[in-house]
Amino acid sequence: MRLIMLGAPGAGKGTQAVILSERFNIPHISTGDIFRSNIKEGTELGKKAKEYIDKGLLVPDEITIGIVKDRLLQPDCRNGFILDGFPRTIPQAQYLDKALEDMGIMLDAVINIYVSDDEIVRRMSGRRVCPSCGMSYHTDYNPPGKNGECSGCGTAVVQREDDREETVIKRLQTYHAQTEPLIDYYEKQGKILTVTGRDKIEDTTGELFSSLDSFRQKMSS
Ligand code: ADP
Ligand code: ZN
Repeated sequence: MRLIMLGAPGAGKGTQAVILSERFNIPHISTGDIFRSNIKEGTELGKKAKEYIDKGLLVPDEITIGIVKDRLLQPDCRNGFILDGFPRTIPQAQYLDKALEDMGIMLDAVINIYVSDDEIVRRMSGRRVCPSCGMSYHTDYNPPGKNGECSGCGTAVVQREDDREETVIKRLQTYHAQTEPLIDYYEKQGKILTVTGRDKIEDTTGELFSSLDSFRQKMSS
């Protein structure tokens, strides 16, 4: 299964991607996570990416595309993958189409998680992440374990620097200008499957799995 997750920042792409990744046993590739782990380790890539990320801007395409290219060539991607946070611009999508064609593979679906801007701003203020394993939490909807520790690995969860309100608003502008056009782009390929991002994670997951099922049936018939 080869999937792309689309949606505004904070729509819940990452959370659903982790669930899909376990269900289908395929790697979850998050460009945001790759950048964050490079920032944490203080690599050259991390230093460059941080300048853009902290301003709510996108990391330049040349940098991002190179990373994804290397990742898709890893052997664990042979049976499929879930791209989360890539592509985020039309040139990235065009690059990906070309790369997949060269590899002789096709995307199964592009999952678009819809959440309104107001809702996003409200949600982001409560978002917390595990700096160790990348699990996301929300102070109200999906609280971490006792003492604010990750229920997966026990590390103390934190608020991401780019989740501050003014950065969130900038990220939403970036999303509407650069990423939202991808919905049309993939609509033209007949690949878009839109689900509503709900407050309750399992509600979104339920809708996602059932629409993915009918989408695949429609595709294979
Ligand atoms: P979110 O989906 O919540 O915005 P991500 O973790 O996916 O967060 O990404 C965090 C930041 O990393 C983005 O705001 C952007 O600056 C950068 N980034 C992630 N993926 C890409 C990409 N494909 N192209 C350019 N920049 C990216
Ligand atoms: Zn963890």
